[in-house]
Amino acid sequence: RAKERGRNTYQFFSQEMNQRALARQQLETQLRRALQHDEFALHYQPLIDMRSNRLIGMEALLRWQHPERGMVGPDEFIPLAEETGLIIPIGEWVLRTACAQTKTWQDEGYRLRVGVNISARQFKQPDFVASVATILAETGLPPATLELELTETALVENIAETITTLNRLKGMGINLAIDDFGTGYSSLSYLKHFPIDRLKIDRTFISEISTNSDDAVIAETIIAMAHSLRKSVVAEGVEHQRQLDFLSLKECDEVQGFYLSKPLPPETFTHFLRQQSPDRD
Ligand code: C2E
Ligand code: MG
Ligand code: MG
Ligand code: MG
Repeated sequence: RAKERGRNTYQFFSQEMNQRALARQQLETQLRRALQHDEFALHYQPLIDMRSNRLIGMEALLRWQHPERGMVGPDEFIPLAEETGLIIPIGEWVLRTACAQTKTWQDEGYRLRVGVNISARQFKQPDFVASVATILAETGLPPATLELELTETALVENIAETITTLNRLKGMGINLAIDDFGTGYSSLSYLKHFPIDRLKIDRTFISEISTNSDDAVIAETIIAMAHSLRKSVVAEGVEHQRQLDFLSLKECDEVQGFYLSKPLPPETFTHFLRQQSPDRD
């Protein structure tokens, strides 16, 4: 009996494993097709400057308009794209599209900075800096209005190489931010060596800043530390006025979150921009 059950369990697991492998394979095939068939899109989430209360830029966020499944979020396919290396062409598409779109909005008279997420695998490509330079040249976007968002895990893997790459990007005039700050490796000593402009406090710390005193202390400490190191701070995931009040009191520089705006498709973002006047120049 036990033996029988054992065999059934084995069959069950191997069947499940086959199914999972198959699903992954299908997803990989579909991801490849998605690039060729133009199924990716970027949505743009407004970034608000706390002091002036003005829109100062946006984060580009990848979406997949799947022919059958509808809109698919990045958490569902970025990990596999990283594993398979597809993140390299996808990442280039993201960077080119975000830079071109931002340049178009700038040409209409809006001063905007765009944040683009860069995966670890992309950042470690030997020709990463060159490809960023090419895309900036092609699109004509001023480097000072581009910000690359990197995670702690991407940065700490090979510190010496990371510093070289960051310095080259910085030398081109590009802004650099650490994304999801506080959730990664968090050896704070690297902050001193990395030419980083901004920290983006992860939203897990922001969600309870007005009710959980530990989260409040963490957020407050990150803001104070960033400022002592002459870095700017963005709070991610602001969903309530209470959080905004707290962040304003603690002099957080910028905010981003559903309370201010969800990520918007380009056409809707354009409408959002038009409402922002008279900041145009
Ligand atoms: P992220 O870079 O930390 O982006 C912020 C995420 O938080 C976005 O999720 C955004 O929609 C979400 N968010 C913003 N405000 C709020 C809020 O008030 N409440 C809540 N609950 N969520 C909020 P999204 O678009 O699903 O992206 C998830 C992650 O996928 C991103 O996290 C980033 O790590 C990755 N990602 C997105 N686009 C790209 C891309 O083009 N390339 C790469 N490599 N990764 C990307
Ligand atoms: Mg980000
Ligand atoms: Mg983040
Ligand atoms: Mg994140």
